[in-house]
Amino acid sequence: MKLTVIGSGVLIPQEGRGNSGYFLETEHHSILIDGGSGTLRKFPEFNLDYRKIDTICYSHLHPDHTMDLIPLLFAFKHDPKVQTLDRTLQIIGPKGFQSFFNRMMDIFGQWVLPEDMDIKIKEVTREKIALTDLNITCNRTIHTDHSITFRFDDGKGNDIFYSGDTILCEELIESARGVKTLILECSAPDEMKSENHLTPTECGKIAAESKCEKLVLTHFFPEVLKTNILGTISRYYNGKIEMAYDGMVINV
Ligand SMILES: [Zn+2]
Ligand SMILES: [Zn+2]
Repeated sequence: MKLTVIGSGVLIPQEGRGNSGYFLETEHHSILIDGGSGTLRKFPEFNLDYRKIDTICYSHLHPDHTMDLIPLLFAFKHDPKVQTLDRTLQIIGPKGFQSFFNRMMDIFGQWVLPEDMDIKIKEVTREKIALTDLNITCNRTIHTDHSITFRFDDGKGNDIFYSGDTILCEELIESARGVKTLILECSAPDEMKSENHLTPTECGKIAAESKCEKLVLTHFFPEVLKTNILGTISRYYNGKIEMAYDGMVINV
């Protein structure tokens, strides 16, 4: 599996860090994981082919994770190099996604919906989904009312866990237990503890408890980047730690 970090930033515009977006490629699937504003624009910059996307996984509905769905469909509809006939785009999202989608389509649908493409929406809470060469396990986490996490497993012992936005909670640790690559949001510095996000100390504790092989941090607000993130985390977790950046490639 090859995962490219498209956006390691947050809702605040920052140089070099865009809204949340990740692209997971296997032999048979091309999966967009979240896709905030600016995600689509980065595909050609990172030598990625957006035309291949067959599945989209949304962790929650906040705009910094979803807003490029409209530009993506608009491009699918009008890019002559996109084959839409007999094509299915599967969207896996949290409870409430269908209504969110319908309301956006009330406004934009006439311009952006490719007539001959089948869009299949699946709302999930706790569920396992089997694709051709990939298993996706969804679980709940605490951030918005229905926010979910994703664990991607190729069936050959390689897996990646993506936290989306979250706080420290038991289900998050259980869902990530023993994963090879743990991708955690690391939004806020310890001294600015937020109600909805993780701090470096919490990321360290989750990584240690889950016993992941490698921790990748992402979703940085500007304030946390001014602190010694790696120093703080290494007090709790002594495995490999990497800070995500836009364009980073993780091979699992
Ligand atoms: Zn959020
Ligand atoms: Zn976010």
